[in-house]
Amino acid sequence: MSQADTPDELTRRLHEVLKQLVTPRKFDLWFAGLRVAGSEAGRLELTVQNPFHHEWIRTYYTDVLTRAVHQVAGDDAEHELLVTEDGAVVESPDAPPVAEAVPVDPAGKITSQNARYFQQNSDVSLHQKYTFDNFVVGPSNQLAHAAAMAVAEAPAGSYNPLFLHGGCGLGKTHLLQAICHRAMDSGRALKVLYLSSETFVNQFIAAIEQGDLSRFRYKYRSVDLLLIDDIHLLANKERTQDEFFHTFNTLYNDQRQIVLSSDSPPSEIPTLRERLISRFKWGLVAQIETPGYETRQAILRRKAKDRDIELPEEVLDFLAEKMNRNIRELEGAVTKVLGYAHLTGRAIDLELAREALGESDHSTQHQSLGLDRILDVVCAHFNVKVSDLHGRRRTQSIVLPRQVAMYLTRKFTPMSLVEIGARFGGRDHSTVLYAVGKIEERIAAQPSFAQLIGEFENRLRR
Ligand code: ADP
Ligand code: MG
Repeated sequence: MSQADTPDELTRRLHEVLKQLVTPRKFDLWFAGLRVAGSEAGRLELTVQNPFHHEWIRTYYTDVLTRAVHQVAGDDAEHELLVTEDGAVVESPDAPPVAEAVPVDPAGKITSQNARYFQQNSDVSLHQKYTFDNFVVGPSNQLAHAAAMAVAEAPAGSYNPLFLHGGCGLGKTHLLQAICHRAMDSGRALKVLYLSSETFVNQFIAAIEQGDLSRFRYKYRSVDLLLIDDIHLLANKERTQDEFFHTFNTLYNDQRQIVLSSDSPPSEIPTLRERLISRFKWGLVAQIETPGYETRQAILRRKAKDRDIELPEEVLDFLAEKMNRNIRELEGAVTKVLGYAHLTGRAIDLELAREALGESDHSTQHQSLGLDRILDVVCAHFNVKVSDLHGRRRTQSIVLPRQVAMYLTRKFTPMSLVEIGARFGGRDHSTVLYAVGKIEERIAAQPSFAQLIGEFENRLRR
């Protein structure tokens, strides 16, 4: 081995080349501890001081390192990256992976290290269900979903910053948290910070008050992945916007990933500084739209399945038709229907779904429907007087119209059996039940009668 090829000399030359290839800051951070431990037949054995550096270099700097090794030891030279502890090699990992390969994370060590950082620094704990696996993809959110996946898998790759915008309850927070989950489980050591922009504002103000801006800055500017939810809340907060501008620049220049969500596109956030607007547009701006009918159905199916329930098609159709504004509303509808079924011990069908959502004939929507209208409709058809129905006469010509009126009152108003009995000649609740039962029997037995009642109901619904 000539003097020029001693490990120390090779280390010095390798450092020199690396300093040309990365910024001084990055060199100090990642390569200052890199050593050539030995060389043999066009192969350099390199070591770094800990598994964290090893991981990092393999993930982000394999290309850079390969180039540097080629410059120092020839174009065909290969290298192996090892970890030392107190000067002794402790780990002999496989050859460096191709850039996009996900590094191994034996026993989830890196994952739990990532989780620890997250817990200590983020202001919320992640919702376990907000994962990519639980996210239903449709035309309304396809782009946002794909970009979020790409960012989680290769932070600071193609889409930086990633700016997701869309109305309330359409899945922005879900996607942001899914990125956190995926990135932290990726087997790479990553400092992930997820915050609402309110927290950013509050911590900034607190830092100013305590005269501790440098710690605040360090916290935000040293992460790998910064996700800020609801960035539109920075509107009108000009000093915070300025601070965020600098945070943004630092992270961006260091090739760290930034993900933002907002209820509107960058240029429509009121009083947002122009320079922030333009930066938000540097990466990818993806809108999440209101889901269409089929996506709504798919989401409903999914939410029911999550609770081990299968919703009948007619119920799915009904809910998908009715709940068309956002996904939170869809979820709420499923919860209501399941809760109602549980409470009443009934099977889930269309009628139950209607009732659960306050849509049924028994429900609030029709509660305002007055008794008067029912009496009008019935009296007109049977050609009797309202006072006859209220009275106590029991002649056949009165009994049927009275029973029909009781039946309709029961169905279309919130009145109790007792109240209904009192209105129709001071009868008790069992008489009302009997009347309702009679009408139901007749509806079942006599199609022409069923049709008549159906017509009454249609008229009352109008
Ligand atoms: P935003 O932050 O846009 O207001 P969220 O992310 O809080 O909306 O979403 C509201 C609810 O809807 C959450 O419970 C979320 O899990 C759910 N949700 C939103 N989009 C989807 C989707 N595509 N698939 C499954 N659930 C979704
Ligand atoms: Mg949200």
